[in-house]
Amino acid sequence: MKAAVVHGKDDIRIEEYPTPQAGPGEMVVKIKASGICATDIKILLGQGLPKKLPTILGHEVVGEVFELGEGTAGFQTGDRVAVYPIAVCGECYYCRNGRHNLCMEEFGLGHGIDGGFAEYVRLPRQIINAGGVVKMPQDLSYEKAALAEPLSCGIAALKANRVKPGDRVVVVGAGPMGLIHLKLSKWAGATVIMADILDKRLETATRMGADFCVDVSQMDLFDEVMRITEGTGAEVVITSLGIPKIIEQSLKLVRNGGTFNIFGGPPAGQPITVDPRWVHYGEIIITGTFAATPVQFKKAFDLIAAGEVKVEDLITDRFTLDNMLDAIEKAKNQEMIRGIVLF
Ligand SMILES: [Zn+2]
Ligand SMILES: [Zn+2]
Repeated sequence: MKAAVVHGKDDIRIEEYPTPQAGPGEMVVKIKASGICATDIKILLGQGLPKKLPTILGHEVVGEVFELGEGTAGFQTGDRVAVYPIAVCGECYYCRNGRHNLCMEEFGLGHGIDGGFAEYVRLPRQIINAGGVVKMPQDLSYEKAALAEPLSCGIAALKANRVKPGDRVVVVGAGPMGLIHLKLSKWAGATVIMADILDKRLETATRMGADFCVDVSQMDLFDEVMRITEGTGAEVVITSLGIPKIIEQSLKLVRNGGTFNIFGGPPAGQPITVDPRWVHYGEIIITGTFAATPVQFKKAFDLIAAGEVKVEDLITDRFTLDNMLDAIEKAKNQEMIRGIVLF
């Protein structure tokens, strides 16, 4: 099969690769669409590059069941499916408590095993057994369904932050995931303040329903948030970027009793300072959210299928496997919101 194969840091090549086969309890999916995530770009540039190379990245996968291994009940070849990308044991402390994304044995597509920037992908039994293969209704497009994975990560943050109607939510970073936080916070009935340094991103945020946009290259975010919230600070602050310094500066945007979420994955070795007195007397809740559970994935999928959260406007660029290297350049330069590889 043809695949975008990662050989090392910033070294990705479109080439022939062995077509996977389904072992017992496994399935092979013929990929129809594969979303390009900031995580893929980060890994490609060396942050968290797997030890075992070559590999295939891509964890936002939808397609058609192509081959079923022995003992894979409930599916037929030709079924249209969306895939939760994490293989989980189902038995450890975290899995038993519904926090599968923290599974002690976890691995997943583009992270331990080959992912979705290829014509076919093999799904291990752990993904199938966790309910991670979701059948798609006939009228749902592959493009939309491919956004279930990123949307599920936003759902995880929404839950961790207990966003309620009437909350003021500040989203720091109006990139692809920031826009997903915007959409979900609006869906949850919140007022949303988006912050970014790129004008273009804020224009998009405005179009997607942001109540306030703050261009932090021009304005002081703290002053603006205090003005908008009449001096209290926001009930919820989500930092949707991986820059420790900005995360630290954003702490003061949250009100007493509020929730501060670290969503974007920062690089290693750059701690920030938090005043324990402030956390104590202000009863500040600091949350972290990473990936999502199979239940959150299904929830995201259902919201998309029902049209409750509109996601199609997040896709700005479409590629094929052959011109996928252009996609990577565009993503590195933050020139697109969401790119998708179509097959
Ligand atoms: Zn993703
Ligand atoms: Zn587990």
